[in-house]
Amino acid sequence: MKANILKDKHGRQLNYLRVSITDRCNLNCLYCRRWKDAKYFPPSEILSYEEILRLINIGTGLGINKVRITGGEPLVRKGAASFICRVPEIAGVKDVSLTTNGVLLQDNLEKLKQSGIRRLNISLDSLKREKYRLITGQDCFSETWDSIMAALEAGFDPVKVNVVVMRGINDEEIEQFAALTQNFPLYVRFIEYMPSCRHSLDRHRQIFMPEIKAFAEARQKLYPIWKKDNSQVAECFRYHDAPGEIGFISPFSTPFCKTCNRLRLTADGKLRPCLMSARYVDIKQPLRDGMADNEIADHLKLATLKKPARPEGKKNHALEIPDFMSAIGG
Ligand code: SAM
Repeated sequence: MKANILKDKHGRQLNYLRVSITDRCNLNCLYCRRWKDAKYFPPSEILSYEEILRLINIGTGLGINKVRITGGEPLVRKGAASFICRVPEIAGVKDVSLTTNGVLLQDNLEKLKQSGIRRLNISLDSLKREKYRLITGQDCFSETWDSIMAALEAGFDPVKVNVVVMRGINDEEIEQFAALTQNFPLYVRFIEYMPSCRHSLDRHRQIFMPEIKAFAEARQKLYPIWKKDNSQVAECFRYHDAPGEIGFISPFSTPFCKTCNRLRLTADGKLRPCLMSARYVDIKQPLRDGMADNEIADHLKLATLKKPARPEGKKNHALEIPDFMSAIGG
């Protein structure tokens, strides 16, 4: 393993590390995790902030320049905002973003902004308080909505709103979500629901992108937006004169494996090269065994070489995420 970049067997170079800092969450979304299944990683299994920072630092020596902090809900972990603010200080990291459900975001916005972070993805699956409660199990619609508005006001850009679309649950709100882009400079991104082997939301809730897009198009014509970065997973559009954008993310109907540049680090120290594969490389033990930086780098390369060409499921099974999304990081 000589070259100092993370290049997989299929010619893809990985420069994007998605870091989950906790598997805990203050919501219990239908499609992600339910209370009854809630067994969290024991605290001793969770990587410390210092361990994560060391790993990112080593990753930058291999071409990692983009880092997203996710979870669980990252902001429920003690000291999360202070940790996140340290990531842009790592030499070589050019782009740091945060994925959050927004419930605890508002109080942390100022701190995040001061650290130079500008990119936020905020999950919101309904614009109706009752429906939000049904989907998430918590009555926190106002907290999430207020955080979205506060993030715009504070100048974060882009502020992306992630909407997981579920048939018969929130599909009747697609047009309303799309309309937000006409009133606010928001990036509303519709995401195909991905079944997981660990939760019980029925497969018939899955709704594929052509159908989702048709709902958005029924409102008004959508104009495609060309993006320079070909690792972007969303197909992007805009309504005429709208300040915001609409993105469609279709891991099932149009998988983006060919341009996938991602590696995931779970909160318990597993490097996962593909969301839709059970493959991983443990990095926690090597970090705790005091391995040298070049040996840790070899583990990053090993995880990269394990990246499959495309999603892989169990034999004769339909594709699914091999764990709770909250445990992998989304
Ligand atoms: N708690 C944070 C949040 O809610 O954004 C970060 C973690 S969450 C696992 C990351 C993203 O994964 C969210 O946008 C969420 O909607 C999405 N997600 C979770 N489970 C999913 C599933 N089964 N299918 C599609 N997207 C999913």
